[in-house]
Amino acid sequence: MRVNTFKRAAVAFALALPGAAVATVVAAPAAQADGCYTWPRTLTQGRSGEDVRQLQIRVAGWAGYGGVVRVDGRYGPETATAVKRFQAAYGLPADGVAGPRTFAKIYGLQDNDCTPKHFSYAELDNGCGKGGWGGGPLSSSATRENAVRTMWKLEALRRSLGDKPLYVTSGFRNLACSRQVGGTANSQHLYGNAADLTSRDRTLCEIARSARDQGFSGIYGPGYPDHGDHTHVDSRKENNRDSIANTTDWSASRCGVN
Ligand code: ZN
Repeated sequence: MRVNTFKRAAVAFALALPGAAVATVVAAPAAQADGCYTWPRTLTQGRSGEDVRQLQIRVAGWAGYGGVVRVDGRYGPETATAVKRFQAAYGLPADGVAGPRTFAKIYGLQDNDCTPKHFSYAELDNGCGKGGWGGGPLSSSATRENAVRTMWKLEALRRSLGDKPLYVTSGFRNLACSRQVGGTANSQHLYGNAADLTSRDRTLCEIARSARDQGFSGIYGPGYPDHGDHTHVDSRKENNRDSIANTTDWSASRCGVN
């Protein structure tokens, strides 16, 4: 991903210098949609590969009620259904085939650093762990990838709530940070898998209810202890490193979520 950005930067640099050794510059790569990732082909059920995995990360927030899109690089029925929901949410023909129009929509939502348009790495890094993704139970890169996956689900949640801003009041917490705030031993915040949310336009209950459709297996909101001022969402079901992996826990009794 970064290679493309670097190549483009190198080409731009060479072009900016008359007489520079342009001949030594490797041919410019095919036109890129952005600096993050460009899909090389149309994807349909039965396909597999890294391009499918990259697609699954972007549509995982369209899993449907209680669902999860497995990010396994195989384009099966659950991926096709999520693609259909993504297409419908953005006004495209919902055929479940990821082609140029679907990718164009994703490029429009995707920043060069691979985060979705309305969320950023800085926002997902909690205050006391500031400056990186280390210090948790996973490697920095694994934690960071979890944060990206969380953000794409948040982008879907935001869309489903009418494209009004959602604020992340707490995201990744390293172990020291988690101890400071009294986090539980299996807090999904340790993995980059969780976000605490508020909104000026939507109630915490609206967030909690909608999150059930956007691939979140952990939801705590009003009615759950200490969750009167934010709604917590996480992806514990997909966290195969934790004791609560493959479980779902929704609790926001004042919202009818359980
Ligand atoms: Zn939380």
